[in-house]
Amino acid sequence: MSKIEVLSKLEDIVGKDFASNNREELFIYSQDPGVSHPRQVDYVVMPETVQEVQQIVRIANEKKIPIVPMGGGLTLSGLVIPVKGGIVLDTKRMDKIIEINETSRYALIEAGVTSGQLISHLREKYPDLQPPYPDAPPSVTLAGNALIHGSGYLSQKYGDHASMINGLEVVLPNGEVCKVGSCALSKYWFTRGPIPDLIGLFTSAFGTMGIVTKISIKLFPKPKLRNIVIGLIKNLDTIPGLVLNLTATDIPEDLMVALAEKPDFMKGYAILLLYITGDSQDELDSKTKILKKMYRKNKATFMKLPPRYYDIFLEQPQFAAKAADFRKGGGFEYVGSFLPLEKIPAAIEKARDISLKYGIVPTQVSRIIGRGHNVMFAASYSFNRADLDDMERARKALHETNEMVLELGGIPWKSELAGQKLIIEKMDPNYKILLRTIRKVLDPNGIMNPGNWEV
Ligand SMILES: Cc1cc2nc3c(=O)[nH]c(=O)nc-3n(C[C@H](O)[C@H](O)[C@H](O)COP(=O)(O)OP(=O)(O)OC[C@H]3O[C@@H](n4cnc5c(N)ncnc54)[C@H](O)[C@@H]3O)c2cc1C
Repeated sequence: MSKIEVLSKLEDIVGKDFASNNREELFIYSQDPGVSHPRQVDYVVMPETVQEVQQIVRIANEKKIPIVPMGGGLTLSGLVIPVKGGIVLDTKRMDKIIEINETSRYALIEAGVTSGQLISHLREKYPDLQPPYPDAPPSVTLAGNALIHGSGYLSQKYGDHASMINGLEVVLPNGEVCKVGSCALSKYWFTRGPIPDLIGLFTSAFGTMGIVTKISIKLFPKPKLRNIVIGLIKNLDTIPGLVLNLTATDIPEDLMVALAEKPDFMKGYAILLLYITGDSQDELDSKTKILKKMYRKNKATFMKLPPRYYDIFLEQPQFAAKAADFRKGGGFEYVGSFLPLEKIPAAIEKARDISLKYGIVPTQVSRIIGRGHNVMFAASYSFNRADLDDMERARKALHETNEMVLELGGIPWKSELAGQKLIIEKMDPNYKILLRTIRKVLDPNGIMNPGNWEV
């Protein structure tokens, strides 16, 4: 079948306005804001219903055309740029908020619902509830974020966002629709079990196991007030102990340790960004008092900021482009990774060395996940998109960071292809066999985002 015939079939499914192989439109989908090289895309299609997704998957199977599901496309690590060409299936038109359950506290939404959309909806109609969402631009999808084990403002208390998924509706690689979680047998999408938990099959799978069309994600109470209690740490080795003591108080809602050598006052220190919430100023004041005491006990220094800085730190999402060095043209990519808490001091030192080796201002952040059971450590490297050598330097820095993370016993997160290869090399051989077997059974034609997690 020719490309024109495939396009015409896709147009029959979604309408002429929502399928394309125009070069100009494909160009946008052939790259992302990170340092990955552009790759070929053959078609982009924007379905609106689960039935349309099924039909697209069936055509892809019939013609053995790869499909890459895409939400906001903002992982930075090239995950939605096809490795072997084919169809990018953009979920942005699947944007219905189907149900907010206030009592069991979950949102049932379509895969293309963005974090900005759900936050606005809750602010307007359910002001006492908040979703888990990342510090990323509001155009990212909640599905895309939860499916890659994202993290955000609620992660210290409640864990990473994949653990907050209650249920999924998935179009499997054969085009059948499958519900996973309590929704497989109940009208309430309120829990993953107690049946064999297959949700993990679809998380951090990068679209290789199927296309998620609906997701139920937990919602959380939203206290009226929020504030930040900043601390300075001189001796990096004290970080794990301090974090353990702070998380044991059950006070911080979000806890990050940042290292940035710009602005100048941050040089030489790790900065503790500790977010607290409450329903009254008295509550915030008493929490602050306990935390300051904890700082003193653990050799950290409380830092009072001028009011304008508080406004910046309390923004949600934070002005994300801060991670980029504007003087270098504004581009950045980071290696995010999951690391054991005890390895954070070493990771900070080693990532700083890598930055300096490549002439990049060191910028890092560690977000504590689930009271310190895990840490999302991110080392960010800025680059000037107009300078190819500069981009190559950032690529090398990212690669060395992946290696460093693996050496320390951590795992690169939402990893680009080169990082995935490093992970696969280290994997238990039987894990690889299991993964390969599951993929073969689910996707015998190898159409689901081939090239990713290829073992
Ligand atoms: C400035 C900036 C700040 C960021 N800060 C954070 C942060 O604080 N926390 C955080 O977690 N992340 C952060 N990120 C990373 C990333 O943007 C987010 O994790 C984002 O939520 C990913 O969602 P997305 O919709 O862009 O996913 P996409 O990039 O569209 O997709 C991510 C992966 O999921 C797959 N996928 C998407 N939709 C589906 C579907 N329906 N079915 C099956 N597979 C699917 C894709 O194929 C891809 O592999 C940040 C990014 C930027 C640019």
